[in-house]
Amino acid sequence: MKVDVIIVGSGVAGTLLAFRLLDKGLKPLVISDPSKKKASLLAAGLINPIVFRTITMGWRTSHCLKEANSFYTSLESKLSAKFFNPCDILRIHGSEEEREIWEDKKHDPDFASFLGEGVNPENYSWLKSNHGISKLKGAAFVNSQNFIDALSL
Ligand SMILES: Cc1cc2nc3c(=O)[nH]c(=O)nc-3n(C[C@H](O)[C@H](O)[C@H](O)COP(=O)(O)OP(=O)(O)OC[C@H]3O[C@@H](n4cnc5c(N)ncnc54)[C@H](O)[C@@H]3O)c2cc1C
Repeated sequence: MKVDVIIVGSGVAGTLLAFRLLDKGLKPLVISDPSKKKASLLAAGLINPIVFRTITMGWRTSHCLKEANSFYTSLESKLSAKFFNPCDILRIHGSEEEREIWEDKKHDPDFASFLGEGVNPENYSWLKSNHGISKLKGAAFVNSQNFIDALSL
């Protein structure tokens, strides 16, 4: 069998790379050692645009989020499965300083579409929050179990 690319490792990275190569008309071969650990089986599945504490943006965040949105959605139809869920995340601020940085950066055009308003802690009384809770917009949640089942990881 002729293959164009050999990928070592059948976690989420190797498996999704194989799908991308197939989309480009290439033939990948994925090989993996099942005796090795696989972090993908433990992942919580959060896609978070912001590095908390310092409130900084990941590398090419907007581009990656757009790409994740279209890629995961098309993968869902290809695999007839549902695992990709755009959502908000509630950030329980770790310190007063972090909350102040959040409030400051909320007005920066690069951050405005992600850093939302503070929420009323009384509505989330089961959460312990000494420094307030804010809403992070534009995040997503990949249902790990559905995703793993669909990819047969
Ligand atoms: C508890 C936990 C929670 C997490 N939550 C999140 C989250 O919410 N959001 C997020 O983005 N990330 C999260 N992560 C990180 C995420 O799980 C990893 O970044 C991701 O799964 C890495 O995927 P991978 O395919 O590179 O590696 P892996 O899933 O580890 O796959 C590696 C593959 O390579 C194979 N392999 C290894 N060595 C060899 C070898 N010598 N020969 C052949 N095959 C080999 C293994 O068998 C495996 O199949 C979390 C991680 C953990 C542990």
